[in-house]
Amino acid sequence: MPSPFPSFQSVLERIAAEIEATPGRGRPADYIPVLAEADPRRFGMAVADLDGTVYGVGEWQQPFSTQSITKVFTLALDLSLEGDVLWEHVGREPSGNPFNSLVQLEHEHGIPRNPFINAGALVVTDRLQTLTGDAAGVLRDFLRTESGNPDLGFDMTVADSESAHGDRNAALAHFMASYGNIRNPVPVLLDQYFRQCSIEASCADLARAAGFLARHGTRADGSYLLTRSQAKQVNAVMLTCGTYDAAGDFAYRVGLPGKSGVGGGIIAVVPGRCTLCVWSPGLDERGNSVAGVAALDRFTTLTGLSVF
Ligand code: GLN
Repeated sequence: MPSPFPSFQSVLERIAAEIEATPGRGRPADYIPVLAEADPRRFGMAVADLDGTVYGVGEWQQPFSTQSITKVFTLALDLSLEGDVLWEHVGREPSGNPFNSLVQLEHEHGIPRNPFINAGALVVTDRLQTLTGDAAGVLRDFLRTESGNPDLGFDMTVADSESAHGDRNAALAHFMASYGNIRNPVPVLLDQYFRQCSIEASCADLARAAGFLARHGTRADGSYLLTRSQAKQVNAVMLTCGTYDAAGDFAYRVGLPGKSGVGGGIIAVVPGRCTLCVWSPGLDERGNSVAGVAALDRFTTLTGLSVF
């Protein structure tokens, strides 16, 4: 007799107890000064079913800085508006380099490797800005609708802190502009990008908002954001590029499409089944949450849910 499938709630509680007992949680991001103040022992995790029912443990309702997790949503919004034209301006290969690296861009003529490293995300936000006139606002409104949380929004303290220390992102944007791959004035793009990254949302909000990726492109209200094929493509790019130069190890340990942010959050997708979000601010040297990766590793091990 196969053993019964454990309930999401019981799995989450077991994971939280294991994480609590684990020493060593990494260090918060310090290149954005306000994020450096976060306590690495904080932890929350949520799972959203296909119908939007959310199970949670720890600080699963606590808003945190979403940072690069937003890159999944801007990619999806841009693809829904312009389709494959996007791929003429950004690649979809793992970079094998840190998320904010400049080194490949000159060899590759200002076309970033993928939409999840900073250079690629800047291109996506630039294109969404051209298409909508307010990329960050469109993203915020989408996240509010899909999460059902009308209070979700920008944290301007974080956006201003990142802007004040944003020389590397500015360098990436100017460099790509020199190749004609950025269409808006760089200061406009950076303002949009820093506000995008500053959005505060909880594990519950993000697990729900990412639901369209588990529902093959279908939004919470039943309408389509993406075609089934596009949803598959976004999940594939998350699997291969979503955790930067640790994507191979993440696929090995977790076995799901995932996207991390330097606020300590990670979202992950079990296509056709559920979406997950975990948050703990201590990062490893590649910018991924230490407890977050460990918790997702335990989730797929305990449940057997994986794309493999
Ligand atoms: N806002 C951050 C940056 O551009 C996002 C990086 C991340 O979350 N990996 O550096």
